[in-house]
Amino acid sequence: MKALKERILKDGRCYPGGILKVDKFINHQMDPQLLKQIAIEFIRRYASTEINKILTIEASGIAPAIVMGLLLDLPVVFAKKKQPSTMENMLSTTVFSFTKQREYHVVISQDYLNKDDKVLFIDDFLAYGNAAKGIIDLCKQAGCELVGMGFIIEKAFQNGRKVIEEAGVRCESLAIIESLDNCEIKIR
Ligand code: 5GP
Repeated sequence: MKALKERILKDGRCYPGGILKVDKFINHQMDPQLLKQIAIEFIRRYASTEINKILTIEASGIAPAIVMGLLLDLPVVFAKKKQPSTMENMLSTTVFSFTKQREYHVVISQDYLNKDDKVLFIDDFLAYGNAAKGIIDLCKQAGCELVGMGFIIEKAFQNGRKVIEEAGVRCESLAIIESLDNCEIKIR
């Protein structure tokens, strides 16, 4: 996606350890026009797929997911990183965060993810695929159909796509980063 790639090159910043900061337009301050273009591109790519719900994970996946939900007139549900004491019919999995270097629990209520659902998962980044692995597990527990996963930015050198494709799930990313070596952003 041309506009996204240009924006990453203009406003993205590299940090040691293979981290790309996009907090000027996606992760902290958000550009709604760009998010709309991102949502439209995901919708185009999954146009031939039956979807009845958008799934994401807090926090940075929520903005693109809600724009998609609005455009497609579909509900949006997000997996939570903190367990609310009031959650009923909770499903839970464990995810390792490489940016924070620790494990955390991710939960979702089966009330909002169940066997009748055909869900498209949307998130900001695909890195090592740990969050994706957790989402695939939650979908399995819920008995829903995970029809695809869409990422705004994929860091190809961290190989997260392998996790998704080995699970037999379709993966689409709108900008693929080949390398962040020497703090230089190389986009495919
Ligand atoms: P994974 O689970 O695929 O290893 O990492 C995905 C999650 O980690 C994303 O939800 C994202 O929040 C965070 N993440 C991974 N790499 C980056 C990065 O380079 N920059 C930012 N801002 N977040 C990242």
